[in-house]
Amino acid sequence: MLSPDEIAAREFVVSLRGYDRDEVHAFLNRVAEDLRAARARRDAQLQLGVLSAWRCGGVAARRRVLGREPRCPQARCRHNDHSGALTLSEPFPSGHEVPPVRLGCTCATVPVMEPTG
Ligand SMILES: [Zn+2]
Repeated sequence: MLSPDEIAAREFVVSLRGYDRDEVHAFLNRVAEDLRAARARRDAQLQLGVLSAWRCGGVAARRRVLGREPRCPQARCRHNDHSGALTLSEPFPSGHEVPPVRLGCTCATVPVMEPTG
């Protein structure tokens, strides 16, 4: 499967009476962005499924685990990571119920288990 970056960086041989290069690149960038957005929506749906399973399984709290976020705007991922354990119904400080916070976000959530014994 092509990655969004591979799509955006794709080059074509220039030929006489070929396509307009700028138009092709603009289209490829649009396709790459749409693919990134679709993947982010898919990831969020998966995380919502995990959250639902945790509710059914009696998990009381969760916390955010910071992913590799070299360019996270406004450090939203970092603030979520520092929020500590939250109940399953509390949104993270960014306002998101589940990751991803933005395109490229690699954060995750983990259940917080009560110590036993
Ligand atoms: Zn993140």
